[in-house]
Amino acid sequence: MVQSLPNQLRIGIIGGGQLGCMLMEEGFRYDLHFNTLDNEDAPARHLARNHIHGSLQDELAIRTLALESDILTYEIEHISLNALQKLESEGKEIIPSASVLQIIQDKGLQKLFYQKNNITSPDFRLVKKADDWASALHELGNPQTFVAKTCKGGYDGKGVRICKAGDSPMAGSFVLEHFVECEKELSVIVGVDRLGKAKCFPVVEMVFDPKLNLVDTLLCPARIPKSILKEAEQIAISVAKALGSPGLFAIELFLDKNGKLWVNETAPRPHNSGHHTIESCVTSQYEQLIRILCGWPLGDTTSISPATMINIIGPEGLTGKYQLANLGTLLGMPGIYIHLYGKTETRPGRKLGHITVMAETVEEVLKKTNEVKVLLAIQAA
Ligand code: ADP
Repeated sequence: MVQSLPNQLRIGIIGGGQLGCMLMEEGFRYDLHFNTLDNEDAPARHLARNHIHGSLQDELAIRTLALESDILTYEIEHISLNALQKLESEGKEIIPSASVLQIIQDKGLQKLFYQKNNITSPDFRLVKKADDWASALHELGNPQTFVAKTCKGGYDGKGVRICKAGDSPMAGSFVLEHFVECEKELSVIVGVDRLGKAKCFPVVEMVFDPKLNLVDTLLCPARIPKSILKEAEQIAISVAKALGSPGLFAIELFLDKNGKLWVNETAPRPHNSGHHTIESCVTSQYEQLIRILCGWPLGDTTSISPATMINIIGPEGLTGKYQLANLGTLLGMPGIYIHLYGKTETRPGRKLGHITVMAETVEEVLKKTNEVKVLLAIQAA
């Protein structure tokens, strides 16, 4: 039983992008206040009590944020691990803990973590240099197709290459892993509170834009049999619990053509695949993280209605000031929720916002989503 429920907590967020902004928006109605760290034109600049300008790798900047905050969290993985480890050793509370970030930041360590905890993930070998590829691939059974992932620094599909046997090896540290013939890519978001209690959000199905390698649209609930939904939730909970820290975790899974589930990767923060929860679940992923940070009881994650989420992504060939076309028509459609992230300039592939679409049935929501996608366009301002 939680004894005291303070609502005066000062929360420091490392990173000031859209995830941090949506987290703050959910926290404001609880009278919480937030400090953020990021560059000076980051979306969080208007919302944070104190928006500290600095690099996410700058230990001193993270320390400044920590001094002004009772607790720290992060909305991006590419931050100074050293800073977090030092602050934690000095008693600063960081959720999720630095040990989680250490595993997640390095795809090699992440794969070893799944292996150690008996979590099914595509078979892999770690290589440190180009010369290691041949023997690693031999050990993997010389697959015709395999996946090479840079151990550090990749995001949104950058740093991931689907390779064919005979492709030239690349220099640096890589995970080489089996290619999974996917039926569907799924995501499950799990909140773990300070007592270790875990709760899942409904499983979502992701639809990727093959050109940008970004999630373009996602659907909740995923159209998969109940038994697989259950299994996906159980796997996600076992990953989140094995990490051994409170926090909000997004577990990405592959469902292969034989109905088998494989864990691809985990994000230790609110996730693109959970934006729809703001409108379509009783508690959003952002509120869930607020509750975890504050030591409050986990919220109800029940879905209110079927939903899709469409990312608004900067188109090819346009850089600079922009505006959303057809705004009036979109706003006239019922069950459409538009979120713009306050990014002043567009670039090809940049996430500028998202739209949540809700309707009573999955068929209706998919139909409405197609109508929205026809209207959705970014144009020069
Ligand atoms: P990132 O961390 O950059 O998002 P991911 O590991 O999620 O990278 O990979 C990006 C995408 O590449 C996945 O969503 C999936 O479509 C594809 N992919 C990655 N690993 C595999 C794999 N082992 N088999 C098949 N497809 C994969």
